[in-house]
Amino acid sequence: MTAEPTDGSGPGCDREPEVVDASRSGHWPAELDRHTGDCPDCAETRWIAEALRGVAPPDGPLTDAGGLWARLDLRVRREAAERAERPVMLAHRLALAALTGCAWVTVSWTWQNSPVVAWVVAAGLAVLAAPGAAALWFARD
Ligand SMILES: [Zn+2]
Repeated sequence: MTAEPTDGSGPGCDREPEVVDASRSGHWPAELDRHTGDCPDCAETRWIAEALRGVAPPDGPLTDAGGLWARLDLRVRREAAERAERPVMLAHRLALAALTGCAWVTVSWTWQNSPVVAWVVAAGLAVLAAPGAAALWFARD
């Protein structure tokens, strides 16, 4: 068993099985951790093993590569969708906050002239804001 990284012309590093075992167990001996930093084959094996760790059965054999690939692809797509939704949800929350502020100012200003009209304006604004608030409520995590 060699501890030296390969130059890429061979079949890979002899320590790759140790890297897979360490990734499965989560226990990384310091020497092996340093080796994966220096050896491109083991660094790639570590990256792949850690990516698959989230989608593979924890102790089961890796027999169905197609199933693993499909689960990994699904996970990558779900994470990308979650990242894409964050700014949209932030914009929705800011819009709701701005609407609430404008409604407060409008009702307060109207209250000084006629409390009855202020109640009517408040009810109208509540009806207008209800669909947006309901959408945010159902879209929350
Ligand atoms: Zn290596």
